Amino acid sequence: MSDSVLVIDNDPNIVDLLSYFFERRGYTVHAAMDGADGLNQALAHRPGVVICDVIMEPLHGFQVLEGIRARRELDDTVVIMVSAKSFRPDIERALQLGADDYVVKPFLMEELLQTVQQRRAARRKGTMTVRFWGTRGSIATPGPGTTRYGGNTSCVELRCGGEILIFDAGTGIRGLGEALMREFEGRPLIVHLFVSHTHWDHIQGFPFFMPAYQATSTINVYGPSGQGRPLEKLLRGQMDPDYFPVALGDMGAAIRVHEYRSGDFAIGETTVRAHYLNHPGMTLGYRVTHAGKSVVYATDNEPYRHTLARFGRRESAEGFGAQLDESLVRFVADADLYIGEAQYTDEEYPAKIGWGHSSVTATVEVALQARVKALALYHHDPMHPDDVVAAMEAAARRAIQGRGVDLRCFAAQEGQVIEV
Ligand SMILES: [Zn+2]
Ligand SMILES: [Zn+2]
Repeated sequence: MSDSVLVIDNDPNIVDLLSYFFERRGYTVHAAMDGADGLNQALAHRPGVVICDVIMEPLHGFQVLEGIRARRELDDTVVIMVSAKSFRPDIERALQLGADDYVVKPFLMEELLQTVQQRRAARRKGTMTVRFWGTRGSIATPGPGTTRYGGNTSCVELRCGGEILIFDAGTGIRGLGEALMREFEGRPLIVHLFVSHTHWDHIQGFPFFMPAYQATSTINVYGPSGQGRPLEKLLRGQMDPDYFPVALGDMGAAIRVHEYRSGDFAIGETTVRAHYLNHPGMTLGYRVTHAGKSVVYATDNEPYRHTLARFGRRESAEGFGAQLDESLVRFVADADLYIGEAQYTDEEYPAKIGWGHSSVTATVEVALQARVKALALYHHDPMHPDDVVAAMEAAARRAIQGRGVDLRCFAAQEGQVIEV
């Protein structure tokens, strides 16, 4: 949701006053002197907030309000009507048509600002938006073969109400950083970065995450301790002067590392639960719950029943392994969206047993058993160009259809946005 305000008012003094006031508070301000221009600008800029006068020509404020509410892409936009008309039926009608509030002129600027902030918080509450910034596993694979599903390594942004959560800091986080810089323009930014594990494809983009260089940013990093080295040391290690010219401690932002021990992380009204996965090194999956909805991010995992069977005790391994695999099913259970690793085709997998990754069928099986509503196939193999990933997606859909289950399945694409 953008921090911009569109002022629509035919009184130039009010437009100047509101523009000056909101610009001083860090908002980008657009202005329109009549309703028709206002509606056009709302569609062009998709502002976070519209402050709209009622009596205007040729379109009056109620017509502008109806125009805004008819457009889905403006669903997140807060609309505050302002007018010297203070009749109750007018106010009630505005609220019925989808205004977030109705403020009677003259008003105090600080009160209007407070109304704007409250209404924005209320509109954000209960929404979860996922954006994929990097979907590739192992190593970045830019080039003509990966334009559809993307070549950047693991990074997913999840907006829960007003909170910004990020899962993994593969090379995809660079683009996210640039987008956050544009959105926040020097205003304080707080993000929560959950690292699954410290293999390169999950942390390598962090030194290129621009908000980490801003004194106005606070970056909370969560993740597992390494085997023998704490998480903070592992993150510092990849920025050792032999590898990178800037040290972690010199980046500028307040970077706070919270190592996972047990229990849930609480971020505002959002809860994050962690679960250890079966992958070389300590690796966590995360389940995020917000306003009754859940998203699970669980990548880099191989079923225990396959890895244990390698040790020759096939029968007991399968039983014990299957039991351990069920704990992942319980962790994922009933999620609205499960972002699950599916690196290999079923044909490739037998040659890759013990590498710590899953076949498409294994991940589809977790999704089916867990009765999730949607499955995003994630962590695409660097050896898989777009046509192979598309074929894996098709195979997964066929398997799901064959079971007669209503489960939406897609291969995650870089740049893709999902409203949960
Ligand atoms: Zn990985
Ligand atoms: Zn890994």
